[in-house]
Amino acid sequence: MLIKQFEQGRTFMAKLNQNSDLLEELNKICIDENITAGTINLIGAISSLKLGFYDQVTKQYIYTTYAYDEPMEIVSCTGNISLKDGKPFCHIHLIAADKKGKCIGGHLVQGTSVFAGEVCIQELLGEDLNRQPDKETGLTLWTE
Ligand code: ZN
Repeated sequence: MLIKQFEQGRTFMAKLNQNSDLLEELNKICIDENITAGTINLIGAISSLKLGFYDQVTKQYIYTTYAYDEPMEIVSCTGNISLKDGKPFCHIHLIAADKKGKCIGGHLVQGTSVFAGEVCIQELLGEDLNRQPDKETGLTLWTE
């Protein structure tokens, strides 16, 4: 297990631009504000949705299964910020509901279009939290 302790830093509230790419916008806020560690949560609505699912056997993300192209509510969207290749990197999971309330969820990837988004980011201050390729899982995970 890896445990690191942080102190609370700045808190940001942001309104996202319509038709922007959700993941790109979150990464842009972190890069622009130099947020190298933190937590993210947001609610809003999207006009299209693309999610990934990590296949633990093949160690590959599957994207097409969870690709949608219809308006949905963001019921919950949460994640964290750390460093990957020396730059702020957002790891985000999202649950979205269609007009009947049916939900789908997964790992957010590029290709989700914002209709409206209200973001809260809590910066965390401490030593660097870096991502490196992890042999056991095939994922890029936190390291010492
Ligand atoms: Zn994920």
